[in-house]
Amino acid sequence: MARVVVIGAGVGGLAAAARLAALGHEVTVYERADEVGGKLGRYRRETPVGTFHFDTGPSLLTLPQVFADLFEATGAKLDEYVDLTPLDPIVRHHFPASGPDTPATVLDSCADPDVFAARIGAVFGAPAARDWQRLWRRAGRVWAASWRDVLRSAVDSPLALTRLAWRLPELAAIAPGRTLRGLGRRHLRDPRLRMLLDRYATYTGADPRRAAAALVAIPYAEMHFGAWYPRGGLGTLADALLSRCLDLGVVVATGTTVTGIDAAGGRVQAVRLGGTRVPADVVVANVDALTLYRDLLPTPDRLARLADRSLAGFVLLLGVRGESGLAHHNVFFPTDYDAEFDAVFGDPGRGVPARPVPDPTVFVSVPADPLVRPAGHEAWFVLVNAPRHGRTLGGVDWRRPGLADAYADHVLDVLAARGVDVRDRLVFREVRTPADLATTAGAPGGAIHGSAGGLLRPPNRGPVHGLFLVGGSTHPGGGLPMVTLSAQIVAERIGR
Ligand SMILES: Cc1cc2nc3c(=O)[nH]c(=O)nc-3n(C[C@H](O)[C@H](O)[C@H](O)COP(=O)(O)OP(=O)(O)OC[C@H]3O[C@@H](n4cnc5c(N)ncnc54)[C@H](O)[C@@H]3O)c2cc1C
Repeated sequence: MARVVVIGAGVGGLAAAARLAALGHEVTVYERADEVGGKLGRYRRETPVGTFHFDTGPSLLTLPQVFADLFEATGAKLDEYVDLTPLDPIVRHHFPASGPDTPATVLDSCADPDVFAARIGAVFGAPAARDWQRLWRRAGRVWAASWRDVLRSAVDSPLALTRLAWRLPELAAIAPGRTLRGLGRRHLRDPRLRMLLDRYATYTGADPRRAAAALVAIPYAEMHFGAWYPRGGLGTLADALLSRCLDLGVVVATGTTVTGIDAAGGRVQAVRLGGTRVPADVVVANVDALTLYRDLLPTPDRLARLADRSLAGFVLLLGVRGESGLAHHNVFFPTDYDAEFDAVFGDPGRGVPARPVPDPTVFVSVPADPLVRPAGHEAWFVLVNAPRHGRTLGGVDWRRPGLADAYADHVLDVLAARGVDVRDRLVFREVRTPADLATTAGAPGGAIHGSAGGLLRPPNRGPVHGLFLVGGSTHPGGGLPMVTLSAQIVAERIGR
């Protein structure tokens, strides 16, 4: 039995803690915030018309089997903790008109490939449906290879994953060096389907023009295994993980910041809480890899590899009067998707600063769940891609007076221009910028997924013996199922 300290009670940290406790270790989790969950955050607002509940981070749950496996491995059943409903449509995509021959269109994704192909055929024509089906067959092979050899495998060194990725025939088959954008151009004639595919790069925080083509596995996982909504909101997953940890004897100390990791003789010795030193045989860091290698255990060579950062998100939480008729998840695309990525990332090398996107893609989630909204009202989560918070060329100072409110007005204007005018139905609006996420979830710059490397992320094993990384900034990547898999990888590596 080892004394394990987990730094951070995000989903990855809690999942690792539960698994390690089930293996018989003595586990303590230190979390700087007063609540657990990290980016899986919640917000509640009492109003004269009733109480609104929001998820402030994730709204789409994929691969629930990963969570079922986690609960099973810790001696419990997921469905005793959360009540999952499958979604159809998974996402309602709204494409703008682009000329007299291309009117505005709507396409609903779903978890049945034949039904989805039929829907594509109905709105974009039979050739577009056939293109998608060809891409889909390839995506299925990439998914199978990723699942078999990458997503559940430990990666101990930065080189190991690179080697692994190139060895996989299915990943190599989609051409080394090809981007997700390149894959879309090769397989899909219809520009709207290309746009739909491009959007999945943002699930890892990346620009589709730079993201690896292997990310085609993401839409495959979403549309093959489906997308799910837990009644009461995604935050209920954090409750479930916490209660699983507590049942297994994990000590969870919130409001407690780890300020450093002590290592000597090439292995971890302890973590520091200000002036207090807590001895540990194993340390599992759920903090962003940047925080780990810059602040907790300064490691310049690892830090140097973390230059690439994920995009961030600008969020509006809206209490809305009346019923809008929107689907659970809606995406309103702009006419020029590239302009969005140009704005979000800027081009610091050429002196071009990042900036809030003038004409962004707008994601709106409206759960049809009476538990999260008063009768006759809706609780809207609105998300647009945004540059991370910072004062360098690649960031935006989201704390600049007036910026957040002005941009919130702008996003609502953009939505109105796309046919969804909610401005005169607001009970309230709450704005969350990347600077807020940096504060509440300890995410450097408010970057959603740490590094935006797609498949190639910092390895799970740290630079000293006994130190491991879990969470969205490490292998296998960001998003709830991936961070949960990182916990599985690390727990298996630590063993009994
Ligand atoms: C706006 C938004 C939308 C998203 N949408 C989706 C979605 O639809 N579907 C999906 O699957 N995923 C989505 N994600 C991503 C998902 O939320 C994350 O990948 C996941 O929650 C990250 O978990 P993590 O394990 O990396 O931990 P994090 O959530 O990053 O938590 C890390 C924890 O460490 C704590 N911490 C930091 N420093 C210290 C310290 N020094 N001492 C102690 N504690 C510390 C932090 O306070 C935090 O609680 C979204 C995220 C955001 C922000």
